Amino acid sequence: MNNNKKYIYKEGFNFNFDNSACEHCGGKCCSGESGYIWITQAEIKKTAEYLDVKLNTFFTEYLRFKNGSYTIKDIKYGGYYSCLFFDREENKCLIYPVRPLQCRTYPFWEMYMGDSEELFDDCPGVKKLP
Ligand code: SF4
Repeated sequence: MNNNKKYIYKEGFNFNFDNSACEHCGGKCCSGESGYIWITQAEIKKTAEYLDVKLNTFFTEYLRFKNGSYTIKDIKYGGYYSCLFFDREENKCLIYPVRPLQCRTYPFWEMYMGDSEELFDDCPGVKKLP
């Protein structure tokens, strides 16, 4: 990964990413259609500690079990869904320092290698490379 002053570029992707756009975009990657926010056992433990909630409570209140893995619940509002940990009033992630790897690596996901047209519409921080 090559990080210059503002833009992040990763080999194999046809875009670069300005992560300062996150401050203004209103959490587009944390809301929208219902989806999966996969979280590992280690991340679950770390997040429960960060929130100071018991593990049992964390599992029952914040997670769903799907296809053998855990995903953070989402909440429906209007016609959309948002991650349970996305604060819509403040436009910020409530677990940002310990957010799952899936969130940390966005938008450099394998699914956006080569074909990232959908991403250009969704994420204002993404700029298509010439
Ligand atoms: S954990 Fe945080 S960064 Fe990840 S989807 Fe939820 S609100 Fe967004």
